Amino acid sequence: MTMPELPPPALRLSLDRDALAANWRALNALSGSAQAGAAVKADAYGLGVATAVPVLRDTGCRRFFVAHWSEVPAVLAHIPVSQLCVLHGVTNEAEAAFARATGVLPVINSVQQAQVWGDSGGGPCHLMVDTGINRLGVPLAQLGHEAVAALEVDTLLSHLASADEDSPLNATQAARLQQAVPQIGARNVSLANSAGIALGSDYHFDLTRPGIALYGGIVRPELAGVISPVAIVQAVVIQRRSISAGDSVGYNATFTAAQTMEVATVSIGYADGFLRARGPGNALRWQGQDLPVVGRVSMDMTVVDCTAAPTLKAGDLVDIPMDLPAQAALSGLSQYELLTVLGKRLQR
Ligand SMILES: *Cc1c(COP(=O)(O)O)cnc(C)c1O
Repeated sequence: MTMPELPPPALRLSLDRDALAANWRALNALSGSAQAGAAVKADAYGLGVATAVPVLRDTGCRRFFVAHWSEVPAVLAHIPVSQLCVLHGVTNEAEAAFARATGVLPVINSVQQAQVWGDSGGGPCHLMVDTGINRLGVPLAQLGHEAVAALEVDTLLSHLASADEDSPLNATQAARLQQAVPQIGARNVSLANSAGIALGSDYHFDLTRPGIALYGGIVRPELAGVISPVAIVQAVVIQRRSISAGDSVGYNATFTAAQTMEVATVSIGYADGFLRARGPGNALRWQGQDLPVVGRVSMDMTVVDCTAAPTLKAGDLVDIPMDLPAQAALSGLSQYELLTVLGKRLQR
């Protein structure tokens, strides 16, 4: 059969494109004389590369970062090859061959990766040095290795471990990167993620790499009032019902009504990235009113107390709150997790 057109989606994710553009502009301005790029890995932190990348491009962003080679095709549909960097670099011949075939430059992260890149023909690439996160990047002590010395480095990068805190490690990392600069003849130097941008000019170098703050994350107090929410998530009410004192709700009957109350079943669950951590103590919202979650969040559904919303009915769209700092505090999830877990059933 030919599939008829789908009905309107019961689960929606849209982006406030103006907020996304304004966030990039704000972060670019905060970056001083450095240019702001954009981390668009993990499908633009779950929000959708197909929407986010064109907005960022049209706002003036000229450098984009993904983690995996699998993420390259979706981003290249919107920007020139020269503007994309793959953070995980090349670990084997197949990745080096893919990099060459597409023209996308890898970020070389280790002596082993430098050798893979050299063996595949060398040429321009980026270089990550590890200044203290001990996760990915060539250790400073290995910068003199012949495979590293042979690289043609476009951008020299490092990554901050604790930029969202006032940690002495921040200044240490910036100083170590400064020391590495003359050892590597790079055209550009880049250190700061979103939080690093807020640390000030010592952290900006030539290029900054904001991710979470583009999408509404407020990871340092300096960004409050500067960054606006971007994700808009809505789910349809499938059913409304009355329950009586003593009735329980949901799996394992973890909630029991103390008196007669009204509840609504909403079509979003943990399979959609509305995790159990966003259960009781959290709320959905309708017309500005809080609808407290009752009982366990299940795979496809969440039940809310709608006693205070007498006109809410099946078919209405409720808002899943995505003001990230507040929702992170309520759920114990990080602002990064709240976005990147958003599931495939959300119609973008
Ligand atoms: C993810 C990532 C970023 C962006 O970090 P945010 O904290 O989201 O701003 C920047 N640089 C590197 C290397 C990353 O992996």
